[in-house]
Amino acid sequence: MSDYSGRFAPTPSGPLHFGSLVAALASFLDARRAGGKWLLRIEDIDPPRCPDGASDTILRQLEAFGLHWDGPVTWQHDHDDAYIDALERLKTLGLAYPCSCSRRQWRDHPVYPGWCRHGISEPGKPAAWRLRSDLGLRPVVWRDRLFGEQRFDPAALGDVVLKRKDELWAYQLAVVVDDADQGISDVVRGFDLLDNTPWQRQLQHALGYPEPRYLHLPLILGPDGQKLSKQNLAPALPEEEQAVRPLLHAALTALDQAPPEGLSTAPVAEQLQWGITHWDIARLRAEAHRQTNATIP
Ligand code: GLU
Repeated sequence: MSDYSGRFAPTPSGPLHFGSLVAALASFLDARRAGGKWLLRIEDIDPPRCPDGASDTILRQLEAFGLHWDGPVTWQHDHDDAYIDALERLKTLGLAYPCSCSRRQWRDHPVYPGWCRHGISEPGKPAAWRLRSDLGLRPVVWRDRLFGEQRFDPAALGDVVLKRKDELWAYQLAVVVDDADQGISDVVRGFDLLDNTPWQRQLQHALGYPEPRYLHLPLILGPDGQKLSKQNLAPALPEEEQAVRPLLHAALTALDQAPPEGLSTAPVAEQLQWGITHWDIARLRAEAHRQTNATIP
């Protein structure tokens, strides 16, 4: 029995696009190749950013691409108690503090300078909760499976926000608590999240959680050289089988797995089986080194 547990953790701020398909597919193939589990977690902690119906669309899109997850879907909006517990533990350890400072006050500094570490500047005002970066890992180091050793100075990371002034949980706390609660051994996700990993490593260390393995994918760019995202209106993934097949093939190609040409018209189950059998991160590593920009056909 494999001890590998992977996950796909989309924020339902809109439908999935090609870039998110590539991330989902890579984490799926990596998990299945290892004989492991692949879990789905909907990261809906920021309701104003999550339009009605977006989660349902994401679930349907994943099904259409044959990306079947194990067990029930988990929803971050159900995990408040776990986040409260984690924040309470950090407070007890003296690692979290309330901060009333506004961005405007520290705009001349590269990161928040920690003014509230030894007492909140303006008691009674709405406060965020921040992590003490000066009391943890020094330096913050991990080895990415593709990008190799990553090393960060905690002073350059600053004191990351755990809970926002508007009372919403911050992504960094939620993702770390959930990955630990779900026993995630392997995080496979887009390159744009690599910069977040040092804060997540700090938090894992502070909370005594195990360190997952990380694989960040080379950036997938659109034909115009722009990062694919909802912001630059990358088109939503289709759900009809005939449109899905060539796009799944394009995603395998974007991951540099070199699927045979003829596979592009094959049913999704067959394409995925080919992808699992041939999954080879050495090909991705070459891609990461070249940082060649994959394009959608
Ligand atoms: N929810 C994040 C996103 O959609 C991904 C979180 C993660 O994979 O750690 O960008």
